[in-house]
Amino acid sequence: MIKVVNLKKQFGDNVVLKDISVTVTPGEAISVIGPSGSGKSTFLRCINGLEEITDGHIYVDELDIADPKVNIDTLRERVGMVFQSFNLFPHLSVTDNITLAPITLNKMSKADANKKAIELLKKVGLEDKAEVFPSSLSGGQKQRAGIARALAPRPHVMLADEPTSALDPATTKSVLACLKDINEKFNVTIVIVTHEMSVIRRLCNRVALLDKGKLLEVADVRDGQIHASTPIGQLLINED
Ligand code: ADP
Ligand code: MG
Repeated sequence: MIKVVNLKKQFGDNVVLKDISVTVTPGEAISVIGPSGSGKSTFLRCINGLEEITDGHIYVDELDIADPKVNIDTLRERVGMVFQSFNLFPHLSVTDNITLAPITLNKMSKADANKKAIELLKKVGLEDKAEVFPSSLSGGQKQRAGIARALAPRPHVMLADEPTSALDPATTKSVLACLKDINEKFNVTIVIVTHEMSVIRRLCNRVALLDKGKLLEVADVRDGQIHASTPIGQLLINED
């Protein structure tokens, strides 16, 4: 589903991702953790084509995103993204935020897109907020609206960059439950950057440990326990 092969990314002289190879299989929920500046956000941004990669390959299904012939819109349909700061369009209602991509990318009719939006809002528990503007939503509601928007083009993969970092613990739980549903019931593969070990324990089956742009190891999560084998991996996990 996502195959990263010898990925290198540099900004000027600064090599921020070094020879990263990892394969994410369909239906997985995998977390990416590491200290600030270790390259986590850049890694996600490379996967959905927001950053041009310097070397290596990233395959999403059969699409090689480094191939200049690959249509970026096709990639965006496959890979949804949610952000720490929600990034909803403030001048659009919740429904219009959700229908924007299906109408412009998938060329769906407005009526069909609206119908889909209502289904998505039900999935994330926001059906009563369809017509309001983002400013009237709480943080947790904004993030659930952001998740509904990311799901609208029916992606196979959802990337989430610290989606609960701006939320209090109770709200984090509601967003986490929403992500878990999406992964388990709707079979969307999730790659999530987070600092919260509770999120990893409850949601993820593996965790990739990044440090200074290098992938130290990919640890298994079994029965709510993270099994890092390298000393530095254990250190990263115990930091929380
Ligand atoms: P993390 O998300 O783990 O905190 P980032 O991926 O945001 O780390 O950043 C990794 C490194 O890449 C940092 O040194 C950062 O300064 C650098 N970086 C990120 N984006 C850019 C950019 N657009 N231009 C130049 N350097 C960048
Ligand atoms: Mg980041």
